[in-house]
Amino acid sequence: MDKSLSLRDQQCLWHPFTQAKIAPKPIAIARAEGCYLYTDANKKLFDGISSWWTNAHGHCHTYISEAITRQLSKLEHVMFANFTHEPAVRLAERLLDIAPSGLSRVFYSDNGSTAVEVAIKMAFQYWQHRKEDRPLFVALEHGYHGDTFGAMSVSERSVYTKPFWPLLFNVRKTVSPCVSEISFGRSEDDLTKQGLQALESLLEAHRNQVAGIILEPMLQIAGGMRIFTRGFLRGIKQLCQKHDLLLIADEAATGFFRTGTCFASNHETVTPDIMCLAKGLTGGYLPLAATLATEKIYQAFLSDNKADALLHGHTFTANPLGCAAALASVDLFAMPETQDQIKAIVHTIELGMKSFHNLSSVKNARNIGTVAIIELNTENAGYLSHAADQISEHCFEKGLFIRPLGHLIYFMPPFAATSQEVTWALNLIHEAINASYSAYHKDPNH
Ligand code: PMP
Repeated sequence: MDKSLSLRDQQCLWHPFTQAKIAPKPIAIARAEGCYLYTDANKKLFDGISSWWTNAHGHCHTYISEAITRQLSKLEHVMFANFTHEPAVRLAERLLDIAPSGLSRVFYSDNGSTAVEVAIKMAFQYWQHRKEDRPLFVALEHGYHGDTFGAMSVSERSVYTKPFWPLLFNVRKTVSPCVSEISFGRSEDDLTKQGLQALESLLEAHRNQVAGIILEPMLQIAGGMRIFTRGFLRGIKQLCQKHDLLLIADEAATGFFRTGTCFASNHETVTPDIMCLAKGLTGGYLPLAATLATEKIYQAFLSDNKADALLHGHTFTANPLGCAAALASVDLFAMPETQDQIKAIVHTIELGMKSFHNLSSVKNARNIGTVAIIELNTENAGYLSHAADQISEHCFEKGLFIRPLGHLIYFMPPFAATSQEVTWALNLIHEAINASYSAYHKDPNH
């Protein structure tokens, strides 16, 4: 008898972020279309977290699929040292057109973590070229920048990285005020001011030693779905200018309209010195990332000595298929229909969030752009919490896939979603919270 795909998988595969001993069997997906995934048993599932922040325009969108197919018949791949090609050049031009002004160079890699590694190396080596010894990075508490060693180092020392703490380089951390901390005694402006004062003191204490500050602009994701208070990002940029250090914006997840604006840095009209793009760059079709830098940084690496170059590169750098997918995705973003859809999703989510505010089982409900965040009221908070397990199961049964970060539920649809689908999904999450929460409190170990 044929074994099911899930069983065969369990005998030969090792999945990311999964404790295989206790995790449910992986769900076999046979195909996808628009906002929906279809299991091999033909169960239809709404992709409620856009396949880990990647999917922008829906699955198997013909415009992107055809662009990849056309490119496939011309050039599938060529190494990017020595050579260049049209999709890479055209994509770089398009990205620089839409990026915050001041960024002028594009370095390609494969994923969010490598985009961050490149950024850290660029910033660190830049100061060496300037003949300054700047051994430190500053990062934010609750930050998360990926799973490679540099990216882990600049991330919060959390459960994600615990086994590797002894191997991570030292980084100075500073507070990141979140809108959920606003209370009667602490206004949004107070929180911003305190956050900026803490950073300023840190920078004073390490005068001329800091190479750069790295952050996820406006929305910290895996470290707690935390939305910055108003003015914090802009204030950080001003401090970077005052102390002459580089601002690295990790837009791996926030880029491409997830937070409502094209890049999260646009919320406060900030131009970072270095910006990392990944996930949604290809609309979610192929792995590709880009690290954008200013001309000042690029020029600092120019010399007659080969050793002064950024001696970093990945085999699949600037893969032409990935670039073709990204170009098609950028085309779709430029269409008024897409922009209207994004606006409608933001509006529907903003309205929908209100229904969570009066639930006693919800500690805080917030959104930024197309990302809805519902933080459960539980003593067992954090990534390892089981507080939302039954809620995900309930949603799954009714056709919505979500993957909460412990007690934090988030929903962020592909932009192909209609307002009706967004409302349906938020209502379902609401229903699931009500259905499961009392049961969970009776038996928190369930
Ligand atoms: N930066 C941020 C802000 C992220 O959310 C992630 C993804 N989890 C990464 C970097 C790493 O991206 P990737 O998983 O593509 O390596």
